[in-house]
Amino acid sequence: MPAQRVLTGNVREHHELWQSSLATAGGTAYDSERVSHLSRTKIKANGGTLPTPGGDKTELAQNPLSWILTVPGSPVYDTFPRSLFIIYISLVLGVPQPKDDHAPTLCHCQYSLDTYGHHRLTCQSWYRTTAIKGHDAVLEGIIDAARSIGVGSTTHSRQVPTHHHSKKKGDVIFDIKLKSDMRIIGDLSICHPVSGRPSGVTPLGTWMGTTMQSRFSAKSKKHRAAYEAQLLHFVPLIVSTFGVLHEDFLRLLWILTSESRGSGLAVGEVREAGPGAGHRQMLFAKMRARVAVLVAKSAAMRFAGYSVVPSRIQSCHSHIPTDLMFSQLNPPLENAIGPVREV
Ligand SMILES: [Zn+2]
Repeated sequence: MPAQRVLTGNVREHHELWQSSLATAGGTAYDSERVSHLSRTKIKANGGTLPTPGGDKTELAQNPLSWILTVPGSPVYDTFPRSLFIIYISLVLGVPQPKDDHAPTLCHCQYSLDTYGHHRLTCQSWYRTTAIKGHDAVLEGIIDAARSIGVGSTTHSRQVPTHHHSKKKGDVIFDIKLKSDMRIIGDLSICHPVSGRPSGVTPLGTWMGTTMQSRFSAKSKKHRAAYEAQLLHFVPLIVSTFGVLHEDFLRLLWILTSESRGSGLAVGEVREAGPGAGHRQMLFAKMRARVAVLVAKSAAMRFAGYSVVPSRIQSCHSHIPTDLMFSQLNPPLENAIGPVREV
């Protein structure tokens, strides 16, 4: 797959709506800033705020568009209607959305809608429910994938505890054992790192480079200490509309895949070099692709104002994974992590 910068260049050259006059100050500074988040990033598996077992030297890579190379396994969660795909890929490439004579030009807040979609992805007035439905659809897909690799997880209101002294709570609980026997509570947040109210005359929007980190800090401040008191480890699940996962989210997926192969190691086998390592990387790639494609779909749905996502998640006991390829990659579990316990 060509680098995203090359694709953007090509599309700009041939896109009927693209005008170089729309680029700020010749386009270079903005361009490099705008695509920097889509470059391949690497982080250490061991680090961040997750109390992971020490000694894991694995480097976790994420190339935001690489989910396109992952064969979809779940017809429910991994597939992408063509119309939404076109919206999403235009967004990622930074080119104007395809012309639609029937599309509104004004938002419900009376602000003019830009042809790039930034206002639609940030305004509270623009089909508010699409943001909520998209958020929930992403969560469901994560739960489906986690359960598929043997990790109990649920968003059920009775099983995700609130803080002791308030009704505040996260979104999802993962039944995995960390050091100190803590379970993990996650709270999903999808953020669009471009200002939807661009200043000046450019419709390109203003790149907000610190959006993900600020969201991470805000979520941590809200939940971490309160959950720590209940021996629950809190992880903000921050992901951008461009499919970039925050480092701790990425590490969490890696830890989830570790659970799935916990019993697959032979005595003396080295974690990184063991025959299961390839499996683990594949499961990790599938997990990451699952999150990225769901976020992509939810961003496109938000743009288009679609909000119909029927819920398919059942209780832990009767859950049927939607992607059978997970079980083919996953060795039989001797100690499958069971359904999330009642709390
Ligand atoms: Zn608006």
